Amino acid sequence: MRVGVLALQGDVREHLRALTECGATARTVRRPTELDEVDALVVPGGESTTISKLSVEFGLFEPIRKRIADGMPVYGSCAGMIMLADEILDGRPDQVSFAGISMAVRRNAFGRQVDSFEGPVVVDGIDGPPFHAVFIRAPWVERVGADVEVLGRVAAGDAKGRIVAVRQGNLLATAFHPELTGDRRVHRFFVEMAGAAG
Ligand code: GLN
Repeated sequence: MRVGVLALQGDVREHLRALTECGATARTVRRPTELDEVDALVVPGGESTTISKLSVEFGLFEPIRKRIADGMPVYGSCAGMIMLADEILDGRPDQVSFAGISMAVRRNAFGRQVDSFEGPVVVDGIDGPPFHAVFIRAPWVERVGADVEVLGRVAAGDAKGRIVAVRQGNLLATAFHPELTGDRRVHRFFVEMAGAAG
């Protein structure tokens, strides 16, 4: 399984390491020819407005949309979740997303003053204890369409009940950053999901 990590901005190295530890052949994707050489893609955490802008500038925006339409498995964490949303709330006016998951995602939803927030999240379909989920200026999912599986919600605290993990077909997204905590279960889940798709 060759899994690319979109390497325009964000925590690319952490995703490469997580994917490698899950047995995938991981590589960076910065140009369309590199996209052609992968079976699946991770869109990392970072800043979605920057990833949006650079993906257009690097000629990757339309090719990624086309691969998504053709069924390529994609996992997005945090900014990557925003990039997979059909609708962005509190986005910049010129911000675009690859889209694919019929959901409305609110940027920086956990509050402007709160830079980061940590809490337990149970993800359906992934065994073991709740994730120690790390949210950094994170979005949450405000609405989902009928085809979206809600996989996880914040379990405690002010944001209790907020949707933070979803799947639609071959697209997976989390508002938190499993790549930062050393818990490889989400990446393993994605690599298996991508294997089953391919
Ligand atoms: N707030 C960022 C954005 O809008 C996401 C933050 C993150 O990926 N940690 O893209």
